[in-house]
Amino acid sequence: MRALAKMRPGAGLELIDRPEPTGGDWDVKIRVLRAGLCGTDLHLQQWDDWAASQMRLPQTIGHEFYGEIVEVGAEVKELAPGDKVSGEGHIVCGYCRNCRAGRRHQCIRTVGLGVNTDGAFADYVVLPVENVWKHPDWVDPELGAIFDPLGNATHTTLQWPLVGEDVLVTGAGPIGVMAAAIAKHAGARHVVVTDLSDTRLALAGAAGADMVVNSGRTRLAEAQKELGMREGFDIGLEMSGAPTAVAEMIANMNHGGKIAMLGLPSSDYAVNWGRIITHMLTIKGIYGREMFETWYLMTSILSTSPALKDAVRSVITHRFAAEDWEEAFATARSGACGKVIMDWS
Ligand SMILES: [Zn+2]
Ligand SMILES: [Zn+2]
Repeated sequence: MRALAKMRPGAGLELIDRPEPTGGDWDVKIRVLRAGLCGTDLHLQQWDDWAASQMRLPQTIGHEFYGEIVEVGAEVKELAPGDKVSGEGHIVCGYCRNCRAGRRHQCIRTVGLGVNTDGAFADYVVLPVENVWKHPDWVDPELGAIFDPLGNATHTTLQWPLVGEDVLVTGAGPIGVMAAAIAKHAGARHVVVTDLSDTRLALAGAAGADMVVNSGRTRLAEAQKELGMREGFDIGLEMSGAPTAVAEMIANMNHGGKIAMLGLPSSDYAVNWGRIITHMLTIKGIYGREMFETWYLMTSILSTSPALKDAVRSVITHRFAAEDWEEAFATARSGACGKVIMDWS
């Protein structure tokens, strides 16, 4: 089968021919039809220190996908060939304290699909049955391929009740754009999105943000004034990993504000702890999605709102055949795009 893999240490990837993966009694084999390109994949292609510490070569990458089940193990009862599915990319141990308490998203021994083990940028991928999410018929291949990042957006955005609240989203990548749409759906009053890219801010505006702010040109204090806000944002959703964006967020929160942090910074940085303390801010780190409450919520909120479904789908800006993977990666790296999808069908 075709697979996009890293064969040796160093930058780069290769589209290779390798044997199809095989599964055990509790595994499911899936024919990949669409796959989404994520910042993680760019790190793995580039082979930075983090990538070097994670991968076991040679290894196929990719974790965002939609496909069709072609084979199930002898013990798999709930799923069958022909089912359309995506997969949760965090494969957990099932035995640590958090796993046994039902908090599998907090497993201390998580294995990342396409990061620590062979992934989904291939004709076939094999996953444990408990990681497979079956889609209803109305979820088409492209929408299914972005359920993984939609899960990040859903899990981050719905940390706290949003009805009537003023929400700040820093970072207008695909997850930030989807977060803005979900925040509006969940009843927020003002949703403001910041970024340095006007292209990405336009996507956030189209997805339902009340105001987009290019933080290279405009300070959030001015944006607040324009919206008639007097006390600061109630909820912050940090999607950029950029220290300057975090500083601007902390400076614009109301007393008692809550911040969910999803964007990964590339290194340590200083923050204004005095302000966090005196403004009594709550800061919560978010990683991945809840298994499988977030998957349930994604499906249910999309099913009740055609507008939200359209807004979520609008983050997909580019589509490439798997053979054109180099162009797909270059487009994603340029930043002048939303979500980039590869067609493996
Ligand atoms: Zn991803
Ligand atoms: Zn565990």
